[in-house]
Amino acid sequence: MLTVTQYQRGLAHYYGCYKGKIDGKAGPATKAAVKKFQKLRGLVQDGKYGPKTNAELVAVVKLIQAIVGVKQDGKCGPTTVAAIKAKQKAWGLVQDGICGPKFWGRYNGNGAATASGGSSAHFRKSEFKCKCGGRYCNGYPAGNTNAKLLNILEKIRAHYGRPVNIRSGQRCNRHNAQVGGNKNSSHKKGKAADIYIKGVCDTAAGRKQVVQLAYKYGAKYSYANTRQMGTSVHINV
Ligand SMILES: [Zn+2]
Repeated sequence: MLTVTQYQRGLAHYYGCYKGKIDGKAGPATKAAVKKFQKLRGLVQDGKYGPKTNAELVAVVKLIQAIVGVKQDGKCGPTTVAAIKAKQKAWGLVQDGICGPKFWGRYNGNGAATASGGSSAHFRKSEFKCKCGGRYCNGYPAGNTNAKLLNILEKIRAHYGRPVNIRSGQRCNRHNAQVGGNKNSSHKKGKAADIYIKGVCDTAAGRKQVVQLAYKYGAKYSYANTRQMGTSVHINV
């Protein structure tokens, strides 16, 4: 759990939820800030800084840290704040160190801009190649892998700060049938990926968390923990 000082800092730099002094005291202003954060993140709004709120704030700060390129420890200290300001400067935004609507709009917009031609900042087009090995198709039956899917994968990658392994991307009709895929599988449309993240997808709870993140970042459907999926998580848009 973050200390009161630490979470006051996190809340101050995420949408400016907290506007008071960083004094380490969980007074009314801090409780109001916790409530505001809970509302923004779709949590129960009780104003109490419990384990769920803590986990969410740590995840949010880690994502911010991944975006601005500093160590992801979930604590919004001076290094993180300086990096947020530097990113705001680079993006032509007011350098107030607060990740508000413009910061997130720019981040999401950037994601969309970078994912094009079937690749993105951290994913090569070839990682999504059909695994029939050229027997039944040229590897890209759907052409380019969907940009929205790539953006979701980028965000999941940023959340954990770890590489995301694509176990199955595009599939041609015959390969899809061979692996027992649904006849209308989104893999055939370049809109699905079965992924594995080392150190995350090794447990059922970890896979469940990836599914939840996928939905949070805009997936149409995601599932894991079936016998067929093994340690992979399916995500489609
Ligand atoms: Zn194929």
